[in-house]
Amino acid sequence: MAAPRSRPAAVEAEADAGRQGGSGVELALPSDTAAAAPLCPHGPTLLFVKVNRGKEETRRFYACSACRDRKDCNFFQWEDEKLSEARLAAREAYNQRCRPPLSRTQCVERYLRFIELPLSQRKFCQSCQQLLLPDDWGDHREHQVVGDVSVTQLRRPSQLLYPLENKKTNAQYLFADRTCQFLADLLSTLGFRRVLCVGTPRLHELIRLTEPGDKKSNIKSLLLDIDFRYSQFYVEDSFCHYNMFNHHFFDGKAALEVCRAFLQEDKGEGVILVTDPPFGGLVEPLAITFKKLIAMWKEGQSQDESQKELPIFWIFPYFFESRIHQFFPNFCMLDYQHFHRRFICVDEAMKYGCMLEVDYDNHALYKHGKTGRKQSPVRIFTNIPPNKIILPTEEGYRFCPLCQRYVSLENRHCEHCGSCTSKDGRKWNHCFLCRKCVKPSWIHCSICNHCAVPDHSCEGTKDGCFICGELDHKRSTCPNIGTCKKANKAVRKQKQRRSNKMKMESRKGQSMNHASVTRKKKRREGAHQYLCS
Ligand code: SAH
Ligand code: ZN
Ligand code: ZN
Ligand code: ZN
Ligand code: ZN
Repeated sequence: MAAPRSRPAAVEAEADAGRQGGSGVELALPSDTAAAAPLCPHGPTLLFVKVNRGKEETRRFYACSACRDRKDCNFFQWEDEKLSEARLAAREAYNQRCRPPLSRTQCVERYLRFIELPLSQRKFCQSCQQLLLPDDWGDHREHQVVGDVSVTQLRRPSQLLYPLENKKTNAQYLFADRTCQFLADLLSTLGFRRVLCVGTPRLHELIRLTEPGDKKSNIKSLLLDIDFRYSQFYVEDSFCHYNMFNHHFFDGKAALEVCRAFLQEDKGEGVILVTDPPFGGLVEPLAITFKKLIAMWKEGQSQDESQKELPIFWIFPYFFESRIHQFFPNFCMLDYQHFHRRFICVDEAMKYGCMLEVDYDNHALYKHGKTGRKQSPVRIFTNIPPNKIILPTEEGYRFCPLCQRYVSLENRHCEHCGSCTSKDGRKWNHCFLCRKCVKPSWIHCSICNHCAVPDHSCEGTKDGCFICGELDHKRSTCPNIGTCKKANKAVRKQKQRRSNKMKMESRKGQSMNHASVTRKKKRREGAHQYLCS
């Protein structure tokens, strides 16, 4: 019996680029003869396929790799669509217009001039999110400008810049200092000398911040991030403007070579990739990108080391575990869950007229929040053997000698499962009927034949694979992909489930509606909780 789908699956489904009801969008593989993907301002677009439940015939289209919200990038083109010369020219002109106002080289020149200025002349325009040189002052007279930008401030750009808050596209959830320090210490303890930071600007700056003489100061870091504002603060060899959903370097070959050289230095010894992608993104394009970075690193290896793997930390919510395992089967999910994230409390910012940083662990709103749970759903996925990764006992971790890994204190070793089974930081209970451990809030349902939340509607909410209707996989990994008969069977299966569900709901009347409202509300809260954690 397949496990019931809980909130995580719903979030995953939402993350699948706007799947709704009976249809959804998935990444499609370009055919061998396919022309190069058309470009949007964020580099090559990705080929998607709209899947309609049970119907195999679908029309494929190109859309932006980075932006899930049409408002941020409205690129759309059917795969078989022929565009006129005029439209192609207009698109090219538009892409040009969207480029950052300054080239990468210009940014570096400005930065070098800026650090030469006396303190009193170092200004930063908050309205434009830009470092100002004396020539620029006139244009920003009416803007919110801060002066006396110190070297320390320059070295911590993530504190000077507003976190981008667009939830769908950019969502910058910066690590709190404690979390960042833990990661930096861990990397140093593990003996890494180079860190490729993909979407981790705070970790990048902390690694570079360390005082000379400190062991960590020997660690080099290269940041790849789509947030162009960072290019004002770093020279070419420490920042590349980059899109991690299509492995696109906005500054072309020169930037790609910076990344290659970084990965291949010392024959590829001592480097690790650390990434904290936006959660709304699709797992598949990320996995494809990381495999390209791995290949780039491998090119620099000598023959006899071909067995070695590029060490990776992929920071992502625990409920993407199975999805990540599809692409990286040997990745292990660590139990570290103290991902306190720095966030800006808008109410307090209004009250005090400035941006306040709060560690959410200490923040009243969250401490006394509705659920009372403080854990973050964010975890580290890694190919480094977990017994090498020591989690801090003072934060409530212990070593499980049977599992050979550190786990949280609440995560108890289950003798029946033979492992520490909790995924979400709470103590899970073993169900002998399901023959596995389940969340503490779940109870065994004799109708569904497995454990589920007490207010679930039996067999009602499951949306299986679009092709065969089975519940344990999706269309893209369906063994029957390409067989139409099964597709029809799936429609019947789905319809059957739907009508069963409807019967149930009409029988239960009001109470059922209430349950589904509660479910929706719960899901919203869940999403809110993870977005804010
Ligand atoms: N916790 C990290 C920040 C993670 S937030 C830290 O504190 O260092 C996600 C990061 O990914 C942001 O820096 C954001 O700018 C970046 N990002 C978002 N979309 C991206 C994309 N398509 N390509 C590259 N970086 C991206
Ligand atoms: Zn785009
Ligand atoms: Zn300005
Ligand atoms: Zn168990
Ligand atoms: Zn059970």
